[in-house]
Amino acid sequence: MAEKKVKLDEEKCVGCGICVDTCEKGVLEMTDDVLKIAHLEKCDGCNSCVEACPNEALSVSE
Ligand code: SF4
Ligand code: SF4
Repeated sequence: MAEKKVKLDEEKCVGCGICVDTCEKGVLEMTDDVLKIAHLEKCDGCNSCVEACPNEALSVSE
């Protein structure tokens, strides 16, 4: 069974940074106002960032 991991839709992301503070595992990082999934291996698919994003740019899937 595949693990659930976060995915980013770069076209929907406006770089607000809300999700970065929401993720307690340090998966997400902001560099020059661009969001990066910097540490995907740490993502446990908890869905917190998905719920926090106002633009539906993040999703969790297998
Ligand atoms: S799903 Fe959870 S662990 Fe993964 S990036 Fe989002 S907040 Fe972090
Ligand atoms: S909360 Fe959504 S729009 Fe804001 S930086 Fe994160 S993914 Fe992008």
